Amino acid sequence: MKSYTEQLWFNTRNRQEFINITPQVEKAVAASGVEEGLCLVNAMHITASVFINDDESGLHADFSRWLEKFAPYGKEKYRHNDSGEDNADAHLKRTIMGREAVVAITKGKLDFGPWEQIFYGEFDGRRRKRVLVKIIGE
Ligand code: ZN
Repeated sequence: MKSYTEQLWFNTRNRQEFINITPQVEKAVAASGVEEGLCLVNAMHITASVFINDDESGLHADFSRWLEKFAPYGKEKYRHNDSGEDNADAHLKRTIMGREAVVAITKGKLDFGPWEQIFYGEFDGRRRKRVLVKIIGE
């Protein structure tokens, strides 16, 4: 069995951003040489997500608006922020949007459904954070 590991680094300009990381993951799959297997992509921070959805700007605006309803930044009184942090909303948003994505690799390519793309969801950015890509297979 082959195994390949890579880290992708991000330092977003905004506190919250969605970044399409599909090209970087496709590069990692090519570098792995795996033809049949699995690709795990996960955020290594508890205030960021990896998720799969459509690369459509209206949808991303909808995600942001919807997340602010569930976990508004700076308005709600959060117990976590009593510790001196201000990122309780980012922890909650990360939990809603998920930690990781797993995609099958078939004939050397990510085996997506229609319109599926992999995104890094940042909820407490403006600092260096990373994503792990782990590929296993034959
Ligand atoms: Zn925190």
